[in-house]
Amino acid sequence: MSNAVLQVETLHRVYEQADNRLHVLQGVSFEVGAGEMVALMGQSGSGKSTLLQCVGLLDTPSEGKIIIAGHETQAMNEHERTLLRRESIGFVYQAHHLLPEFSALENVMLPMMIAGQPKKQAADRAAKMLDALGLAARLDHRPARLSGGEQQRVSIARALANRPKLLLADEPTGNLDPDTAETVYRMLEAIVRKTGVAMLMATHNPELAARMDRTLRLKGGAIV
Ligand code: ADP
Ligand code: MG
Repeated sequence: MSNAVLQVETLHRVYEQADNRLHVLQGVSFEVGAGEMVALMGQSGSGKSTLLQCVGLLDTPSEGKIIIAGHETQAMNEHERTLLRRESIGFVYQAHHLLPEFSALENVMLPMMIAGQPKKQAADRAAKMLDALGLAARLDHRPARLSGGEQQRVSIARALANRPKLLLADEPTGNLDPDTAETVYRMLEAIVRKTGVAMLMATHNPELAARMDRTLRLKGGAIV
């Protein structure tokens, strides 16, 4: 029994199209441990997002195993996958994906309320998290009234709202200017060190990758 938060074993993902088969992941295996920051690199189109979507239980692999916090996921039904995703996995994307009609505070409260937390408790935790990310003065702002870096910080708070064991990030600093990207990266790093969440982050930035604990490189459908 491994104590890895994420275990991936010989994962395959084939996209079947009308006239061709695209074999994007061809037997990918790796683990990520608690408190570990792992960079996922590879050219555009190498399958980074596909891998993150599979690991985040948003896409279903064609073959192979994904084990999250000891739970084998391949035999789970959609309801079980949803519960495990809600409880154990946080996502940060390149674009913020915040709900435009809701304030920063409400965006962070939502996953907690969906998980059944009382409103007051969700609001308290959301405010605390946003405060820790330097957004105490932005709680009432809708996403359109936040800068790109602020939007990403709200996204990070939202991803961590339910205290996930695994944090998946798909080029989270890809849309940000270098200074803002540095701030956001440092916040992610501090969160991993403090909470022990396991983080897998796709990035095109070799300097950021070099600062993480390890780099996985996707090429030709495999980790090289
Ligand atoms: P990356 O994130 O590394 O840029 P992706 O995982 O987005 O790569 O894409 C890997 C390959 O899979 C690309 O060739 C892409 O066009 C293809 N692909 C991604 N999603 C789908 C899909 N839903 N259907 C068909 N092909 C897809
Ligand atoms: Mg991608």
